[in-house]
Amino acid sequence: MSAPETDAVRIVRLAWLRLPPAHRSLLEAVGASQWQIVTGPIGSIADDMLRSAGQLGLLPPARSRLDGALGAWVPGLQVLLINIGHPAIAGLDTQAHEAFVAHIAWHEWGHALSLARCSPEDVAAGDKLLALAPEGISEGIRSAGYGAKNYTHEVVAETYALMMARRIRGHRDKPTWLDDEIYNLLKRVTGWVD
Ligand SMILES: [Zn+2]
Repeated sequence: MSAPETDAVRIVRLAWLRLPPAHRSLLEAVGASQWQIVTGPIGSIADDMLRSAGQLGLLPPARSRLDGALGAWVPGLQVLLINIGHPAIAGLDTQAHEAFVAHIAWHEWGHALSLARCSPEDVAAGDKLLALAPEGISEGIRSAGYGAKNYTHEVVAETYALMMARRIRGHRDKPTWLDDEIYNLLKRVTGWVD
C-alpha cells in the first residue's frame, strides 16, 4: 500500500472510531462497517468488484456517474469505497486533506443508514427536504445532477457528515441552520442524539 493509502486508512479508521458507538452498531447491523481505500475511478472499480463477486455489474450510466465520485457506498458489495486519487483530494494540505477524507467517510456512512432505514414516505419527501436544507447543501445536490429519488439520501448523508464534523469540535446542540424536519429525520434514521 502506498503512503497516501496507508494515511487514508488511518483517517477513515479514526473517523469510524469517532462515530458514537450506537451509530457504529447500526452500521454493523446494516452491513456497512467495511471500507476500502482505492486510487482510481470508483464506478469502474465497483463494477469489477461486483462482477468478480459473481454479481451483475453496474449499468453504464451508474458506472460513469460513480467514476467521478469521491466515495460511494456499494450495497451489493457491503463496502464503502473512497477514491483518494480523485483530483478534488489531490493537492490539499494535511489538515484539509484529513478533514475532507473524514467528511467523505461520514457522508457515505450517513448514506448507508439512509438507504437502509428511510421509509418510502421519507424518500418521496425528497423535494420538500431539499427545499428545507441549507443552500450550501441543496446547491451541491442539485448541481451534482441527482434524480429526485436520491434527494432524501443525499440530504441525510451530507447533513450527517456536517453534524459529525461539528460534534468532534464539541458542538452537540442542534445548529441554527438545520431545519426541524431534517433534524428529526436524521435522529430517526441515524440514531442521532444531542
Ligand atoms: Zn452522497
